[in-house]
Amino acid sequence: MIAENRKYENDSENMHPKPFNKPDRFWRGNLHTHSNRSDGKLEPEEVCHRYKSEGYDFIALTDHFTGIYNYPITDTRSFRDNAFTTIQGAELHSGAMENGELWHILAIGLPLDFSPSNSPTFFR
Ligand SMILES: [Zn+2]
Repeated sequence: MIAENRKYENDSENMHPKPFNKPDRFWRGNLHTHSNRSDGKLEPEEVCHRYKSEGYDFIALTDHFTGIYNYPITDTRSFRDNAFTTIQGAELHSGAMENGELWHILAIGLPLDFSPSNSPTFFR
C-alpha cells in the first residue's frame, strides 16, 4: 500500500510540476508592455523604473510598431543596470487578413534599425 501511495505522489508531481520550488534561479520578466511611444501612459524610463521597483529582472518594451506611432523601437539600453535589463522589441501588426482578423505579434530582440513595415495603423 505504501508503494502505491508513492507511485501516486510521483504521478501527481509529474502532472503538476512545481518549477518555482526547485533550487534553480528564475528570472522575473515581462515580454509585453507599452510606453507613451504608442498607446501606453508612461515614458519608457518610468516604465522600466516601475518594473524594476516591483522586483522584475527584465522587460521588453514592445510598443505598437505602426505608422500612427512612427514605428517606435525604443532604445532602453540606458535603463539597464546590474539588477535589471531590457530587451529591444516591438509589437508588430499584420495587415487585415482574408478572414478579417488583424494579428498582433510580439517581436523580441529586434535591432534598433528594424525596417518599418507597411502597417499604418492597427485599426481596420
Ligand atoms: Zn500590446
